[in-house]
Amino acid sequence: MSLENPRTHYTSQIDPETIGDEKVTVCGWVHEVRDLGGICFVVVRDREGRAQITLVKKKIDKEIFDAARKLVRESVVAVTGSAKPEGKAPNGYEIIPEEIVVLNEAESPLPMDTTGKVDAELDTRLDSRFIDLRREKTTAIFKIRHEVLRAVRNFLSDEGFIETSSPKVVATATEGGTSLFPITYFDREAFLNQSPQLFKQILMSGGLDRVFEIGPIFRAEEHDTRRHLNEATSIDIEASFVDHFEVMEILENMIAYVYEQVIENASASLENLGIELEVPKTPFMKVPYSEAIDIVNAKGEEMIEWGGDLGTVAEHTIGEHVFEETGESHYFITDWPTEIKPFYAMPYENDPLISKSFDMMHRTMELSSGAQRVHLHDMLKERIESQGLNPDGFEFYLRAFKYGMPPHSGWGVGCERLVMTMLGVENIRDTVLFPRDRRRLSP
Ligand code: ATP
Ligand code: MN
Repeated sequence: MSLENPRTHYTSQIDPETIGDEKVTVCGWVHEVRDLGGICFVVVRDREGRAQITLVKKKIDKEIFDAARKLVRESVVAVTGSAKPEGKAPNGYEIIPEEIVVLNEAESPLPMDTTGKVDAELDTRLDSRFIDLRREKTTAIFKIRHEVLRAVRNFLSDEGFIETSSPKVVATATEGGTSLFPITYFDREAFLNQSPQLFKQILMSGGLDRVFEIGPIFRAEEHDTRRHLNEATSIDIEASFVDHFEVMEILENMIAYVYEQVIENASASLENLGIELEVPKTPFMKVPYSEAIDIVNAKGEEMIEWGGDLGTVAEHTIGEHVFEETGESHYFITDWPTEIKPFYAMPYENDPLISKSFDMMHRTMELSSGAQRVHLHDMLKERIESQGLNPDGFEFYLRAFKYGMPPHSGWGVGCERLVMTMLGVENIRDTVLFPRDRRRLSP
């Protein structure tokens, strides 16, 4: 199929100073029709912005004038005409139309407002995501998310990482069976994978040396919070012959690079959201776990004994403390008790009660977990058993450690939390096109 009037420009691409008499065609949605009797303004919106179409009754064909007045909001149109400078219009120009083709008329009333004048509830917006995306502030988040992922890919590729993909349908749990979605796989039970962890480690035995994956993770957690999804996007790396310090450095440098790139490539979207982004300063502060609990205990709101996990309130206390000290939002909590980290975290040789593990935190929440891994077969098997898991289920994984597994380290960052903390978005669901949570399975 060929359209009669193919698009020549996005609305943002027309420069009235240089366009001259050339004909332009913009394609988009009817954002607004203002009929003032003698003059009619139609605002057409596309992904990149808006264009004003101006029709003066005395100067234009009666047929096109009458058609323009009757345009239904959010219908899809192609407008062909000539662009003229107009200081009061969006982007500094208006289009005097020769032809307005209605490609598809919208029904009315609309399921929700697209002008940004009326604030809709998150649930309403998610139910009608197709129309929510027609609001500039919504699109801005996803343009920025795109820049985040592009920057991640560029950064890691330049650092020598190979992009890989691991299966999402698996036979065993990564870290125990509590938070998995079971599915039917022919006549067997299988699960949706909660993390690429075991597979990216196997790739280290395969000699791929440095790998990354950007893909979905599934967590059957029942909690309903602002920062948990049941299907999230994880940015994962694994690297051979390096320790946890080296992958922490890769992580902080990646975060700084991602911020830089978003500032450089998504300035219009940031402006749209009213955000002035600052690049986090590297290196990020490293707070050992034992000091982190001291900070919490000194505040006196709750007492954490050595070996206890850090809850939301504790994370906030530590985050505020670091922010007061450094003025920075990002930091690491390092050297966690071995017992509360997964079996694959490497204990320190001289003090096996603590592990070469870390969480990378934002002031408001955890962004990433990582560690140097246990690369020794017998130690790994022992660690699996001591966490109450059955090594039989991990045979496919353990085998890779018997025939030449290098020492290695890695981490995983939640893409949505990265976008969320960067933009100060209140609810993680705002950073996913079609979020999956406890209640939501459609659209
Ligand atoms: P939390 O304790 O905050 O639930 P976690 O420690 O269970 O997170 P990890 O298994 O360490 O999460 O996963 C690594 C990263 O993946 C997290 O730091 C987070 O950024 C992201 N992530 C994990 N689970 C979720 C989820 N349910 N929703 C969104 N992002 C998630
Ligand atoms: Mn974690």
